[in-house]
Amino acid sequence: MRAAVLRGAGDVALVEREAPRPGPGEVLVDVSSVGVCGSDVHYYEHGRIGRFVVDEPLVLGHEAAGVISALGEGVTGRHVGQRVSVEPGVPDRSCPRCLAGRYNLCPDVRFFATPPVDGAFAEQVVVHQAFAHPCPTP
Ligand SMILES: [Zn+2]
Repeated sequence: MRAAVLRGAGDVALVEREAPRPGPGEVLVDVSSVGVCGSDVHYYEHGRIGRFVVDEPLVLGHEAAGVISALGEGVTGRHVGQRVSVEPGVPDRSCPRCLAGRYNLCPDVRFFATPPVDGAFAEQVVVHQAFAHPCPTP
């Protein structure tokens, strides 16, 4: 698949990467659209935001939507062909904060397009099914 990779400040390249595969509980999403957030612009212009430094190639983009194209083992409640909005911050779902329902405070959240986690300026992304939110059919 193709992905837009930030290699350093002001340096984005379109590269071929191996397509991701959904693990247990995950879905593969064919990305159809991605917003450009201010944080993407900061990473592009400066190669960093605070303590988050782009020191390895990084795929930007965390405001994504698309269509599910494959299901990982054990996925229920999602189906191939389903339009979804991707919630970009995936917590560990096991720490005390997550289990108390405050997953937005999870200290181990993996956030798209924040080093070292790749984002969604790519043809496909993998996300846990609970963070692939179904969209209304037009
Ligand atoms: Zn957690």
